Amino acid sequence: MEFLAPASFTDALAAKAAYPEAVPICGGTDVMVELNFDRRRPGVLLDLSRVGALTEWSSDGELLRVGAGVTYRRIIDELGRALPGLALAARTVGSPQIRNRGTVGGNLGSASPAGDAHPPLLAAGALVELASVRGTRRVPVAEFFTGPKRTVRAPDELIAAFLVPPARGPQQFAKVGTRNAMVIAVCSFGLALDPVKRRVGTGIGSAGPTPLRAGAAEDLLAADLPWDDVGALPDSLARRFGDLVAAAASPIDDVRGTAAYRRHALAVLARRTLHWAWRDLREGGRG
Ligand SMILES: Cc1cc2nc3c(=O)[nH]c(=O)nc-3n(C[C@H](O)[C@H](O)[C@H](O)COP(=O)(O)OP(=O)(O)OC[C@H]3O[C@@H](n4cnc5c(N)ncnc54)[C@H](O)[C@@H]3O)c2cc1C
Repeated sequence: MEFLAPASFTDALAAKAAYPEAVPICGGTDVMVELNFDRRRPGVLLDLSRVGALTEWSSDGELLRVGAGVTYRRIIDELGRALPGLALAARTVGSPQIRNRGTVGGNLGSASPAGDAHPPLLAAGALVELASVRGTRRVPVAEFFTGPKRTVRAPDELIAAFLVPPARGPQQFAKVGTRNAMVIAVCSFGLALDPVKRRVGTGIGSAGPTPLRAGAAEDLLAADLPWDDVGALPDSLARRFGDLVAAAASPIDDVRGTAAYRRHALAVLARRTLHWAWRDLREGGRG
């Protein structure tokens, strides 16, 4: 096995162009499991952990640009106020050790339908920045995933960063698992309310071949939430929202749960996160 360890992003892109089959490794919390269990034996590993540029975040106009190598720990510590939905999801990932090593770029790279970073990124309308020696492109995260563990990333491209607007309102995330830590989601849900633009974003995890948005549920809330008079949330609205989220999912039966259970749980998570977010808005918080 060849091991490439570029020290700059330019060198990393050159290496990926020269060896498109090279498997990138960042925190290694997915890649090393595959190697250790002999599920994968790549000829070339491309270690990105020395590429400082991937570990930086900064403002990019009205967006935050967060390097693919920023860990969950740093999302929680440094970006918890700006990206509360992603920070909530990050808190549920693995264990302290996994959060110290694991990165959002790696979660996007693995493209598991159960990846916990995906629902909040979908809800917030994030973009994924892909780079190669040919140039850079930004893809809406909703178009990034093409199937289980499949994305639009070309063989010579690396994930450079994700871009996301700082929260303008409450964001929530909730996940169902057999216990609270070290668990792959049976299903998960992210919600973002933008009271300024009166927009609603959603993200469904672990209930379809890719992470999904619930477009009809978003439209319902955007039109019917009492934005002008932030009073009590009508229960009938929360129920219809939950039903539309469940209808948007495309789950299967597997070892972690049945499709029917996932749909039921998603309706509950959607209602619950909506109540939490609406409470945050009424209390003047952002989630
Ligand atoms: C014990 C344990 C618990 C876990 N718990 C959770 C959990 O609760 N929720 C969850 O979502 N995940 C969980 N995971 C999975 C894993 O931690 C996450 O998916 C994490 O985000 C992976 O990040 P990483 O940097 O370690 O990725 P790596 O293992 O380095 O890479 C993951 C994939 O992304 C690709 N990749 C990495 N960086 C790039 C890049 N810049 N450009 C292109 N491709 C790239 C790699 O080639 C590989 O295919 C867990 C893993 C373990 C071992």
